[in-house]
Amino acid sequence: MTAPENTGRRFHAYTIRHLDELLQRAPLTEEQRLRTRAVASVLPFRTNAYVVDELIDWDDPFGDPMFRLVFPQEDMLPVEDVDHIAGLLQNDASKQEVTAAANQIRFKLNPHPAGQLALNIPKAGEEPIPGLQHKYRETVLFFPQQGQTCHAYCTYCFRWAQFVGIADLKMANNDVEQLTGYVRDHPEVSSVLLTGGDPMIMGEPVLRRYIEPLLEMEHVESVRIGSKALAYWPQRFVSDPDADDTLRLFERVVASGKNLAFMAHFSHQKELDSEIVREAVRRIRATGAVIRTQAPLIRTINDDAEQWAGMWRTQHKLGMIPYYMFVERDTGPQDYFSVPLVRAWEIFRDAFSQVSGLCRTVRGPSMSATPGKVAVDGVVEIGGEKVFALRMLQARDPDLVGRPFYAKFDENAVWVDDLKPAFADKFPFE
Ligand SMILES: *Cc1c(COP(=O)(O)O)cnc(C)c1O
Ligand code: SF4
Repeated sequence: MTAPENTGRRFHAYTIRHLDELLQRAPLTEEQRLRTRAVASVLPFRTNAYVVDELIDWDDPFGDPMFRLVFPQEDMLPVEDVDHIAGLLQNDASKQEVTAAANQIRFKLNPHPAGQLALNIPKAGEEPIPGLQHKYRETVLFFPQQGQTCHAYCTYCFRWAQFVGIADLKMANNDVEQLTGYVRDHPEVSSVLLTGGDPMIMGEPVLRRYIEPLLEMEHVESVRIGSKALAYWPQRFVSDPDADDTLRLFERVVASGKNLAFMAHFSHQKELDSEIVREAVRRIRATGAVIRTQAPLIRTINDDAEQWAGMWRTQHKLGMIPYYMFVERDTGPQDYFSVPLVRAWEIFRDAFSQVSGLCRTVRGPSMSATPGKVAVDGVVEIGGEKVFALRMLQARDPDLVGRPFYAKFDENAVWVDDLKPAFADKFPFE
């Protein structure tokens, strides 16, 4: 076997300052370049050499889902907004002027979906604990402060607002004792999920400070890490200076009798192809950790059944377990990326029917909405009425989980807010 490419390369992020230079590789007119820069003034942009050199097809960037996954494109925002920013950039407007105009556009893009900032933040006495979310009884989410960025940004990211600085990181915390103290005091919590950003952006010593205290707690059954590092920087587990230490940390979690669940975000089959990804998967699995996979369904990136069936098959072959297909959330450039719920269900069903039972661990298409995770089970006709059959996979109120309910069929609906109850005057969660 040949040595994985890119081993030995150190991580270095490309940001908007590098955008013009990176776009030299794409066949863009001067005008298109300007408009792309305008979009990148509103939405977050960050990438790295692995993504740029190994994942993107520069012969046909606009036909390439990997390009759309990380590079802003002019049609991701309404024409009049792009016109406005492009005009400012062309006239050398001040940085303040551009930022003010960008913020106006950002606030139209529902920057805080599902009440993330206000809801679900637990308290110690009267004081809210920043950096924690406790929405479902069994699971607590940690947002470690040092993990609030990623090796590259997805153009469709639902946490985009924090990357452009309009959600000041109220959601993050570096007070390890406050975070772990909460879990210690809550015996109903069996699963702690480190999330971000991407916790794998943190070096091993920092990661260890957050994880180690959890290993002492008997009621914690699993430590989860939500990460896209396998797709965006697999070197993190193979050749980075702390790769081996990180794997030893995973081993210690497993040795403590807990499940280390590595929740890997893969958007497209191309992310699973390189030799270094496969090596990283082997190395993580060798620690005893379990890798589960999840991603949102995104128009122009992965909106076809062959793509999902292929991903699930490859993931399964490499020893990973397909877990969730999400519906794109109601934030950011959702108008550009959203797929109607009926289409999402067709894609899910079509892909699901093509894979063996061992891949059918995946659930979806699922909306992470304010009341919980709502799955679209299908479209059915009941008593002459065409309806969506829905089901809650997770709910604030555990009693609602797993009970079927219905919504009037709507071919244009893209999110739970677009739906109206059928055979009832309200939804069970209302
Ligand atoms: C998805 C999610 C979880 C984890 O749910 P599982 O079904 O256990 O994977 C926990 N908290 C929040 C807020 C979530 O959105
Ligand atoms: S890896 Fe996750 S948190 Fe980071 S930009 Fe992509 S979707 Fe957002």
